[in-house]
Amino acid sequence: MNSRLLKVDMHVHTHPFSPCSVTTPHEAIEAAINAGIDVLVFTDHDTIWSKQEIDEMQQWAGAQLRLLAGIEVSCLEGHFLVYGLDAIDGLHYNMPVKELIDIARRREAAVVAAHPFRFSMESGNYCYKLDIDAVEVDSSNTTQTTKALAEKLAAQRNLPRIYASDAHSPRDVGSYHTLLSAPIDTISDLVREIKNATRG
Ligand SMILES: [Zn+2]
Ligand SMILES: [Zn+2]
Repeated sequence: MNSRLLKVDMHVHTHPFSPCSVTTPHEAIEAAINAGIDVLVFTDHDTIWSKQEIDEMQQWAGAQLRLLAGIEVSCLEGHFLVYGLDAIDGLHYNMPVKELIDIARRREAAVVAAHPFRFSMESGNYCYKLDIDAVEVDSSNTTQTTKALAEKLAAQRNLPRIYASDAHSPRDVGSYHTLLSAPIDTISDLVREIKNATRG
């Protein structure tokens, strides 16, 4: 059965939760709708939107867009996107990624290596040994070189490939997306579809 494919931008930073972002949540939602995105996921640095906060923004966004919340955790070994956590209990800045993965496994969350070769070859190569669910292969923070290295990592590990904007300004929201099967109404739906995304 062919199910409908949704355009998902699952890596977006908003201000003020991500101080490095100049995008307000409202601007991010408007930009995503203008870019034809179906599912937008706020992944602020080391903080996660509460269900109530997301519900309020979802009401503002309306039916055109599904809004969800993940988190980008700054680990000792690099940045990792996590989907399926509803609180930051147990997470902390610069934590070892293996601790993060243990927490994610206990809560059935998905872990995606964000821009794996952006900071160093060493941090990217470390992902070859990690129990991650997917690799972000392209984003606004990826060069041709780091994209090729991330694609090789995904191929050799046979992991799903994620394309996401990593937007810090409104113009970048929706500039990259991953096509995933509908329905994606909850974070659990997203976790399931990340694991089903195109591999290799
Ligand atoms: Zn990052
Ligand atoms: Zn990011």
